[in-house]
Amino acid sequence: MNGYKIGIDLGTKNTLVYINGRGIIFNEPSMVAFDRETNKMIAIGHKANDMLGKEHGKIKVTKPLEGGVIADLNATEVILESIFKKFKDTNVNLKHSTLLLCCPSKMTSSERKALEDLAHKLEIKDVLIEKEVKAGAIGSGIDIFMPKGIMIVDIGGGTTDIGVLSLGDVVVHDSIRIAGNYIDNEIIKYIKYKYGMEIGKQTAEKIKIGIGTLKNELAEDRTYTFSGKNSNTNLPGKMIIKQSEIRNILLKIFTKITNKILDVLRKLPPELAEDILEDGIIINGGGALIDGVIDYFENITNLKFRLSKNPLTSIAEGTKILLQNKGDYRTKPLK
Ligand code: ADP
Ligand code: MG
Repeated sequence: MNGYKIGIDLGTKNTLVYINGRGIIFNEPSMVAFDRETNKMIAIGHKANDMLGKEHGKIKVTKPLEGGVIADLNATEVILESIFKKFKDTNVNLKHSTLLLCCPSKMTSSERKALEDLAHKLEIKDVLIEKEVKAGAIGSGIDIFMPKGIMIVDIGGGTTDIGVLSLGDVVVHDSIRIAGNYIDNEIIKYIKYKYGMEIGKQTAEKIKIGIGTLKNELAEDRTYTFSGKNSNTNLPGKMIIKQSEIRNILLKIFTKITNKILDVLRKLPPELAEDILEDGIIINGGGALIDGVIDYFENITNLKFRLSKNPLTSIAEGTKILLQNKGDYRTKPLK
């Protein structure tokens, strides 16, 4: 019987699944909805995410990971099991498959072991756990095997992960719990205190994606109209917010991310630091899509930065190459 080669990017915000010969077959929020009474899964991915903030007492929506660590192992199991069920052909046996699971660098060895056990429980014997910064760099088309320092900053949902790689592996890594979700929460707080309007996480994310920018000069201060709940009257209503207001929130948050990047740089041996000075720092993850992010980092640090080729999918793309080269991991740039 045949087996698959499966690569999974288990992100705090999104889960992506790559299968050899098929490509990325799943790309949805890392979210599971359960029935509280029976503890049965009701939905995963987009469907579960759509329930968030709208659930009633009988439904619980939960995430596998939070802040770069496993928050709910059962939810992790359920999401993986449902995905496997969905894509599995009858002539393929999971027992003969290889699974490469990419996780935040911060994950401890006991958490990694728990994920390995979980994969075994789902019948997959051959399991590899890899740091996502490594897969992300490979998926961005970089040859990580050179005797050269490479720095990659992944601004995801729950964490910003910073990794320095050389000779095919991670030399230094660090992470902070300041990333997409944190930005959304700061937008919620700002709108509540400044305007007395309550909004949900989904609305905050839409505002961020809609008008979020780090650009110094705005040709036009665009606006975004959204709905929320007035804290005084408790009634729903509409409001307009300016792009410059969101930019100010982002600037404060990105100062913290910049300081963390500089902290990691300071800890590097001189040769690695020199390579990074020359080649620049790669920005990956959903946060890389914020308007003006590269210019912002370059202006503030005087260092070179560049965008990953595919900020939202590079980790899954990286698993493709890692799985092809099992045991060696030598990479070739993606065509
Ligand atoms: P994770 O790896 O933690 O699952 P991702 O790399 O998938 O996270 O990034 C998800 C984060 O990126 C979310 O917080 C989302 O709001 C944010 N994001 C996605 N697209 C954009 C965009 N165009 N502008 C700003 N933020 C974005
Ligand atoms: Mg990620």
